[in-house]
Amino acid sequence: MKGEKILEIRHLSKMFGKNPVLRDIDFSVSSGDVTCIIGASGSGKSTLLRCLNILETPTTGEILYHGEDIADGKVNAAQYRSRVGMVFQSFNLFNNMNVLDNCMIGQTKVLKKSKEEARKNAMYYLEKVGMAPYINAKPKQLSGGQKQRIAIARALAMEPELLLFDEPTSALDPQMVGEVLEVMRKLAGEGLTMIIVTHEMAFARDVSTRVVFMADGVICEDGTPKDIFENPQNPQTKEFLGRFM
Ligand code: ADP
Ligand code: MG
Repeated sequence: MKGEKILEIRHLSKMFGKNPVLRDIDFSVSSGDVTCIIGASGSGKSTLLRCLNILETPTTGEILYHGEDIADGKVNAAQYRSRVGMVFQSFNLFNNMNVLDNCMIGQTKVLKKSKEEARKNAMYYLEKVGMAPYINAKPKQLSGGQKQRIAIARALAMEPELLLFDEPTSALDPQMVGEVLEVMRKLAGEGLTMIIVTHEMAFARDVSTRVVFMADGVICEDGTPKDIFENPQNPQTKEFLGRFM
C-alpha cells in the first residue's frame, strides 16, 4: 500500500574495527518513496545499503522490516532479499549462466516458482529493460549497460517490495549511463519503491521524492529534491553540491 512504512532504521551504527563508518543513523522508507542517497566517497553509503540487504551486520541499532528486526541474525537472508533486492555497481551477474537463467534462478530457488512461471516472468522484465533479444547471451558478451539492465531485470523478476541500487551507473562507460538511468526513471514512474545511491545529480533531482545527504557516516540533511538542491541548509551539503556546479 502506498505510504505504508517498509523499513525503519533506528540508531544504526557500524564500526569496522575502531573506525565508525555509520553513526546513529535514523531513517525510514515508505512504499512509493524514491530516495536518492548522495555524498562523497567514503561517507558510508554502501555500508548503509549493505546493512539493509543483510550483507553487513550493524554494530548497534535496529533495522525494522515491517516492524521485524532483520539485524538480529534470525532472518532468512535469501527470503528477505527477495523482498528487498539490490543492484550493485559491478552487476554481480552469474557469469557462467545465460541471461535468461540469471533472471530465473532466484525465482525457482528462493520463490519456488515453476520453470515455466519463472521464464514467463523473466521475459516480462527482460522486455521491460529492453533486453529480451539477448536471453541466450552470456554476460561476458554484453556491454556494461546491457549487463546492468540484466541485473535490474533479475532483481525485478523477484517482484521485490523495495529495490536498493548502489551506484548502478558508476562502472559504466559514459555512453551507457543514459540507458540504465532511463530504465530506472521508468521504474520510478511506475511507482517502484527504491533507494538509489548515485552521483548523478540531475537524475536525483528529477526522479527522487526524497534526497539524503551523507558525510562521515552521518545523515547531514534529508529533504525533498527541491530542499536539498535549491536550498541546502547544511554547510557540508552546500560544499558537496558546489563540486557539481
Ligand atoms: P561510500 O559507499 O560512501 O563510498 P563505504 O560505505 O564504502 O562508503 O565506506 C565507508 C568507510 O568504511 C570507508 O572508510 C571504507 O574504507 C570503510 N569500509 C567499508 N567497507 C569496509 C570493510 N569491509 N572493512 C573495513 N572498512 C570498510
Ligand atoms: Mg560506495
